[in-house]
Amino acid sequence: MCIDRKSTTESSDYIRDQVRSIIITTIVTACFLLAMFVGTWHLVPEWELADDADRNEVLTSAIVGYISICFILTISGLVYFLLMLPITYHCVYRIRARFGLASETRKQALFRCVRSLAIGVWTGLGVLILFVIIWDIMGPYWPIGMVGYVILYYYLNLSLKAPSWLSIYKVQTLEDDRRQNLIDFAEAQGIHNLEVMHIEGSRIGREAIAAYSSRLAQPTVYLSDTLLDLLSPEELMSAFAHELAHARQHHIPKRLLMRLVEWMIALGCAWWLMDALLPTESHIIDLARFGPIIIATVWLVFQLLSPLRLYLYRRHETKANEIAMGMTGKPDVVASAIAKLHANNLLPNKWTIWEKLLFATHPSVDSIAAQALRYESDLGVEV
Ligand SMILES: [Zn+2]
Repeated sequence: MCIDRKSTTESSDYIRDQVRSIIITTIVTACFLLAMFVGTWHLVPEWELADDADRNEVLTSAIVGYISICFILTISGLVYFLLMLPITYHCVYRIRARFGLASETRKQALFRCVRSLAIGVWTGLGVLILFVIIWDIMGPYWPIGMVGYVILYYYLNLSLKAPSWLSIYKVQTLEDDRRQNLIDFAEAQGIHNLEVMHIEGSRIGREAIAAYSSRLAQPTVYLSDTLLDLLSPEELMSAFAHELAHARQHHIPKRLLMRLVEWMIALGCAWWLMDALLPTESHIIDLARFGPIIIATVWLVFQLLSPLRLYLYRRHETKANEIAMGMTGKPDVVASAIAKLHANNLLPNKWTIWEKLLFATHPSVDSIAAQALRYESDLGVEV
């Protein structure tokens, strides 16, 4: 397969942009948590300096506790929102501009990042406020309540029309003569009741997307218009087979389970820290002090587990490629379809160690090409 050299040079710029965004986001988040920590550490003692009788009255009143903590969280959330705006704009607009984002959509890009940030902040605040309530009701057993919430969150997410990361695109049922072909192919592979959705990604950029999600009972494959234009019918079937392989291997429930385990580890660490640092007879108001520590702990645990998560994701992808090669009987077409998508999306042919550790959710094009060759030689097909 042949990859345009120019796109490989551009791709290193793209990777640099990504890394820069990750570093800046990390610094802003760390500064924000530090400021929140210092702020709440100073604010809370004012309650404690109040008259003893008043203080007890105030502290024992859960409503005042909720309001004060929710107030702190809301102000912090809004500050974070403003700090992150330029970075989100950088991610949404500048990085996507490399995928051919038209300059007249600059306003749209700004609107999109404000909207996604607002959703992020308010969802995050909702979680934090819920956390305060769970902490108050369940006391030291709060991590159990939080895990229950995480399960509910993922369950509700699965009932959406498209996974949340696709929500910035216009998603609708694929109305195309290729639809029936794809569904017939899925039926032949034993995957029934499949839905094929069309993503209008070209309005935003020329990134080609193929994704799989199981919307509760219904397996769904998402194909972007750029991908539908880019791939030959044979390659389209290969990319589609790859997504079907995710369905057959139950990768979505497995990934959700992995996420749940990550949450349990992160909340467990936060619980251990709180248990070690908080006085036994602590009140809800104390949570205001430890809020930033808890957030930072959960965030840090997720970051530390990220290389392992990415490694497991890449294993799923390799397995999906292998199954797609078997389904289509054309390993070289599977590899060439993926190479085309990577080149179109300005991704490099080979990952560096840092790219693998930080964000490579899929195996590199080179390793997929090698996998196709291995598959062919195992089958005894002439290469
Ligand atoms: Zn995949």
